[in-house]
Amino acid sequence: MAKKKIGIIGGGISGTALGYHLSLYDGEAEVIVFEKDTIGGASTAKSAGTVCLFDDSLKNRYWDVRLYGFESYLKMEAEEKGSAGFDKTGTLVVATNEEVEKVIKTGIALAKAAGYTGEYITDKDRIKEILPDISTDNILGAGYTADDGYFDGTMISNTYAKKFQKNGGVVKTGVKVTEVVVENKKVKGLKTDDGQEYEFDVVVDCTGPWSKFTGEMVGLDVPIWHTKAEAFFLCPPGKKLDYTFPVLKYPEFYGLRAGDNIFICKSHLSMDLSNPMHAGQWDPDKLPATGGTDDYFIDFLLDQLEAKVPGIVDSGLVSSWLSYRAEPKDFWPILGETPVEGYMLSTGYGGNGVIEAPAATRDLAKLIMRGESTPLLENWAFKRLL
Ligand SMILES: Cc1cc2nc3c(=O)[nH]c(=O)nc-3n(C[C@H](O)[C@H](O)[C@H](O)COP(=O)(O)OP(=O)(O)OC[C@H]3O[C@@H](n4cnc5c(N)ncnc54)[C@H](O)[C@@H]3O)c2cc1C
Repeated sequence: MAKKKIGIIGGGISGTALGYHLSLYDGEAEVIVFEKDTIGGASTAKSAGTVCLFDDSLKNRYWDVRLYGFESYLKMEAEEKGSAGFDKTGTLVVATNEEVEKVIKTGIALAKAAGYTGEYITDKDRIKEILPDISTDNILGAGYTADDGYFDGTMISNTYAKKFQKNGGVVKTGVKVTEVVVENKKVKGLKTDDGQEYEFDVVVDCTGPWSKFTGEMVGLDVPIWHTKAEAFFLCPPGKKLDYTFPVLKYPEFYGLRAGDNIFICKSHLSMDLSNPMHAGQWDPDKLPATGGTDDYFIDFLLDQLEAKVPGIVDSGLVSSWLSYRAEPKDFWPILGETPVEGYMLSTGYGGNGVIEAPAATRDLAKLIMRGESTPLLENWAFKRLL
């Protein structure tokens, strides 16, 4: 049987996870990942990497997506310490109203069903034991688990790339795809900036914030907006906290420890695509490695800290960075077939790519290799946006 030839554009968490899942179809596929820079060096590197057992970033409806991601990374970490960069700090998800409380309680029940610990705490002294700097005014309670934390997206991407290569896959870094060859509305292959030309049965666009531009290579308008992901690193008063700062989730923002510092960022679901301060369509190649942030976001976050975590509001600002989250207008990824035969998408992961990439690309690999769809692919299909 002839092997299926698949080209993947982009070596972030989406492209490398897809390469890995395709390589599990032992010997049935010839797959090349093209990455113009380094593996996991773009949005994936700027990510907070939180994959919490329960929080509001991903609806409980997609619990299995969350669990598959979380457990894939736990297994990686168990195979080789550090390969998923796991920092097991636990997570505290704060209930600011009854609706959020219900979501947290459902998440706890789901986590417990999968064998993890989780508790909904209303005793405010106990909440302060977990996070001494928090204000418990105006909250109903908080969900807590000690079992999760955050991962390192770049490490995960490199581990997926390594496993993919071990299974026979090819990774080309520093190679930019410059043209996708289409004949009679069907993909035939692609060309790269080192003058090479490749033939493929399927080309998968895994370029995240670049998808709008790469889509143009096949005449496709990929409906991606960029929300500004502005991350700030704070040095707590006294330079070092004497407790483990958990992943801290509020509907408006989240925080986590980053070494001795604290990473804070406005949550992606609180971004408004029609507000030019929050969102637009920009050139991701112009993003600086650090800095580039707006006062608007740090002012917003400091106001949030003052009201909610006053103990760290006097922190010093150590550094910051700006990145773009690739968001379709309904904030769900775009997965699978497009109107151009053979051109598939695995993009638009917004603020949840680390959580979603394993399950999304597992299902996409099955579609590519077997032509079989899944409920996830149906829900996140390109055609919903037409
Ligand atoms: C500040 C911040 C915090 C976040 N926090 C979380 C979190 O806590 N949990 C979570 O789940 N998600 C989080 N996310 C979201 C997550 O990081 C992204 O959804 C995910 O990394 C997107 O991965 P990707 O592979 O789609 O894109 P990318 O990582 O951007 O990869 C795309 C790749 O395509 C390459 N490329 C582009 N054009 C070409 C071309 N023509 N040829 C070859 N290569 C090309 C690029 O160089 C790039 O490496 C966060 C994001 C940010 C910015």
